[in-house]
Amino acid sequence: MIDSKEKKIEIMAVGSELLTPYFQDTNSLYLTQRLNDLGMKVNSKSIIGDNWNDLLYSIQKSLPHSDLIFAIGGLGPTQDDLTREAFSWVLKKDLIFKKELYRKIEQRFQKRGLPMPPVNKKQAYIIQGAEVLNNQNGTAPGLWVQSDSKDIVLLPGPPHEFKAMFEQSVWPRLQEYKQGYLRRKILKITGLTESRVESLLSDIHVRTPNLNLSLVAYPGQIEIHLTGFSQKKVEELKDSILNRLQDNVFSTEGEELEEIVGNLLVQKEKSLAVAESCTGGLLAHRITNISGSSRYFMDGVVAYSNEVKKELLGLNPELIDKHGAVSPQVAEAMAKRIREKSEADFALSTTGIAGPTGGTPQKPVGLTYIGLSWKGGTQVTRNYFLGTREIIKFQTTQKALDMLWRYHYHRGNSRGKDTK
Ligand code: AMP
Ligand code: MG
Repeated sequence: MIDSKEKKIEIMAVGSELLTPYFQDTNSLYLTQRLNDLGMKVNSKSIIGDNWNDLLYSIQKSLPHSDLIFAIGGLGPTQDDLTREAFSWVLKKDLIFKKELYRKIEQRFQKRGLPMPPVNKKQAYIIQGAEVLNNQNGTAPGLWVQSDSKDIVLLPGPPHEFKAMFEQSVWPRLQEYKQGYLRRKILKITGLTESRVESLLSDIHVRTPNLNLSLVAYPGQIEIHLTGFSQKKVEELKDSILNRLQDNVFSTEGEELEEIVGNLLVQKEKSLAVAESCTGGLLAHRITNISGSSRYFMDGVVAYSNEVKKELLGLNPELIDKHGAVSPQVAEAMAKRIREKSEADFALSTTGIAGPTGGTPQKPVGLTYIGLSWKGGTQVTRNYFLGTREIIKFQTTQKALDMLWRYHYHRGNSRGKDTK
């Protein structure tokens, strides 16, 4: 039995398909998250193909320095499923036929009105001394083996079988090892680069076993992940970061920017419309991804061509001829016109060069103008984003939402977390 606080945990994902670009080992991510919830840390993980020698080698390698091994997959009935057999071989424990298990598997087939294929018989063998873990969603039983003060847990690969078995039979047993619940807090930031965030937080950077801060960078968004066993410590750390980063943190409860903006509009009983050029509808898509957006989203126009900008939005042709479609003047006029046309309280517009073609020295790829219009005025930002076409489009929508969020924030609103 494992009783020391510092037990070494290893995850082995078994399956040749997991070594191709087409399948991902998602089970180990799920398992890691659940272990972390108990304050247990994974020391290493590996993916092993359905190959007898590779399996033996990996098991032999991990046994000496692991206290708890999870092997996922390879418990199926087919010839390439070898996990059970490989562990039995390395542990020098026989495989024992269990009549009750055989009957159970047989009954599963009977319930479905199917004959049991002979190959399924091998799933009725267990490693000597192992405890059987019930599989409510499939035929492969899981096994919990104790050997030389090590615990070895064999779990099936299909995610719905794996998760149900883990929750039902493994999670309760892990409670005795838990080191307290890990608290998690995610602060989301837009408008600052990762290095800027890092330098702003340089003196409150912590990395102790009981409190951890890490930065994760996405296009247009930086996240600060805080974890710790003490709710109080995590909250204190969160507060000092909020103080430091001020209005750059838009969410502390996991919400995305479009959700925060939507909540604000609901709270203020205000409506929104968008006129998009370079983002091609992505901004409206993000806004309408939020359930309940019909309460505030009035209108979205993809005014991609100059003709549509003129005809549908009623932009002055001379404005486009004089300044070009990618210009602050056009961004401003687009936002203003769509707001007036749709009678919305706020409007956002986008126009820019998403690339990779179409850039000029004066107007390079990544140059974007974003307009925000409200009853009392307009604001236009000039942005220069780097990356692929998709990234530039996303960053543009992120900045547009950010402009609207900041507009409200600076007019006396509280942080996103309080807007629910
Ligand atoms: P097995 O238990 O090896 O017969 O796995 C059967 C199915 O589960 C296959 O479709 C696998 O792709 C899937 N599977 C196996 N291992 C994993 C894993 N670690 N993460 C996600 N899916 C998996
Ligand atoms: Mg497999």
